[in-house]
Amino acid sequence: MELLTSPQSYDICFSVASLVLICVTLFIHLSEDKYYSKQGHIFGALVIDALLLNIMGLFHALYLYNEFMHDLIGYNNNCYIVLAEKMLTYLIPYLSITYLMSIFQIEPDGPLRKAILIIPTMYSVFFYPIGYFTGFFFYFDEVGKLVYNYPQAATVNIGVDLYYAFATYLLLKYTKTISSEKASALWVYYFLMMVGVPIRIVTKSSSIFEFSVSLTLLLCVYTFQNPSEFVDRLTGTSTRNALNFTISTNLLQKREFTLFGIHIDRFNAILGEKSSEVAAAMVSQVTEYLKGLSPDKVVFYPNMEDFILIFQGVTPDEVVIERTAEQIRKRFKDTWTILDEEIKLYESPYAIGFPDEVGSLERYNEVRGVLDKAIGKQGKDMLRMADLNLKIVEHDKKIDSIVKHALDDGLLEVYYQPIYSPSTGRFSSCEALLRLKDPQLGFISPAILMPIAERNGTILSIDRFVIESVCEMFQETDVRRHGLDYVELNLSVVDCIQTNLYDNVMNMLSKYQVKPSEINFEITETYEQGITSVMDENITKLTEAGIAFSMDDFGTGYSNLVRIATTPVDLFKLDKSIIQSAFESETSYMVMINLIKIIKALKKEIVAEGVETGEQARQLIKLGCDHIQGFFYARPMPRDQFLQFLRDHNG
Ligand code: C2E
Ligand code: MG
Ligand code: MG
Repeated sequence: MELLTSPQSYDICFSVASLVLICVTLFIHLSEDKYYSKQGHIFGALVIDALLLNIMGLFHALYLYNEFMHDLIGYNNNCYIVLAEKMLTYLIPYLSITYLMSIFQIEPDGPLRKAILIIPTMYSVFFYPIGYFTGFFFYFDEVGKLVYNYPQAATVNIGVDLYYAFATYLLLKYTKTISSEKASALWVYYFLMMVGVPIRIVTKSSSIFEFSVSLTLLLCVYTFQNPSEFVDRLTGTSTRNALNFTISTNLLQKREFTLFGIHIDRFNAILGEKSSEVAAAMVSQVTEYLKGLSPDKVVFYPNMEDFILIFQGVTPDEVVIERTAEQIRKRFKDTWTILDEEIKLYESPYAIGFPDEVGSLERYNEVRGVLDKAIGKQGKDMLRMADLNLKIVEHDKKIDSIVKHALDDGLLEVYYQPIYSPSTGRFSSCEALLRLKDPQLGFISPAILMPIAERNGTILSIDRFVIESVCEMFQETDVRRHGLDYVELNLSVVDCIQTNLYDNVMNMLSKYQVKPSEINFEITETYEQGITSVMDENITKLTEAGIAFSMDDFGTGYSNLVRIATTPVDLFKLDKSIIQSAFESETSYMVMINLIKIIKALKKEIVAEGVETGEQARQLIKLGCDHIQGFFYARPMPRDQFLQFLRDHNG
């Protein structure tokens, strides 16, 4: 206990250690400072304050516990040193509060609020000179220590308490806008600054308080003043995290602002072609230019193709936005010279008003998706929210939630579309097609729901449901007896890249005693382009097990002839768009005939899809198509109806 309560034993050590810490912090801060404006300056002031405080503290400790220094400093100078130390100490809560506010980008608006913020500090700071000359609040004892006269001396802490209450409020309200790591750092900061006060009273020494201040500032220099999370060191741009943070804190403070975006067409691809040096120089140059137009000199670069400026207190309709767009347009008419290379860039500006047009960060991210698609296509000078078809977002969101629950809610059903084989005159195969019927929206087309299911991951269980339904049909009904040889199933690319696809399919087939030759998987041309080793392996293993593959929607992708020849499929399904346009124009007809010839030359079978008239069917059969599928023969239908269809037509 003696060790803890007698400052003599540790005061000088703590003072020196604390001083070392603060010097390290100052050094780091000076080497990082250049990206931060206000927040950096306040932090700098805090560090300087803490540094001076430490120096004063050290001199006071030396006066008290070192004979030589005691004589050198003298009684009066020691008093001044203590007064200065106290005044610097009481500046810390004020600087901490303004630092906290700058982190959350809060400005005290108006002179009154600024005054209210500083008045408690003014009181504490004047408290010491007044106390010194009047002896009302405190006096110096014979050894040179400051002794308070209570109760009046307690008033010096009123300001501190007010600041702590305000800091608690700010932390509770705003820490949700920052990462949990940063939030904990702030709470530690707050806690150390606070416990410093009771510790100081118990130990009657300020060196521990000084030490905790230094420690906290060191912590801050690493979490808040360390720019890598918010600023890209190479280019000086602010990151996506910084943008998200700025948007959420501004929204939280209910501040109006305009997000002004400059999308550079194909910038990602252009950067990709250059060396990393040139690419970084290019981003820096555009950033430097845009900084000149940004009200607070901050340029965000959240993804590879967009630069963003924030205009506080401005709506997208104000002249400053139009003027900025005009200036940027003029600049981009010229080329950019980057390391002796002339490069032309094409920009498309857009402006979003917060919080009127977009009221949350989630909403902004949704809007971004639609914006990406609309950018460059609208042909207008500046893209605005009104130009976007946001109904797509709402609709997609609704379908997304329907799709997620469709299986559990029993909304899914498999329909079967009979496929006619002219050589036998029978319907010996069919395509299994998914149907989702929502009680409110009615049937939702698989063309709409499949891409959504692929994105939200439900595709795997949906396709599993389709395979299982097909297997059940084979086991539970007499489809085989009615002439059905095999069922075609659509396989999503997401299925194709699953390492357990083979096992899942084979287990399902054996569970229902379905032969591999009784199913056929349809894949599409586009999938083939991004082929991966897992996909190759899956197709090879399933083919070896006896499952055939078809190429769906043939003629709509970009396959070259070599690729067609080497694709391991037995069947090509001519897309319905090819069939339909063939019967509308002479050239399309020639295209179709040649596609058929190529497939025939490769000795593969052809399915003509989307055949709607008798005339089309007749022609296609004459041209040698092996199978015909389309509304002319039958539409996709539920299982029972399909069985009846087979009974009626296959005998
Ligand atoms: P797809 O595989 O090309 O399927 C053929 C589409 O053409 C089906 O549309 C079918 O109803 C339609 N169709 C058939 N005959 C005609 C016709 O004569 N005229 C016209 N205009 N259309 C015809 P559907 O059922 O809306 O399916 C659309 C797409 O959704 C399918 O194209 C397929 O890519 C996907 N899909 C459907 N069911 C599934 C499934 O269970 N799993 C997966 N992964 N995808 C599926
Ligand atoms: Mg298909
Ligand atoms: Mg198709």
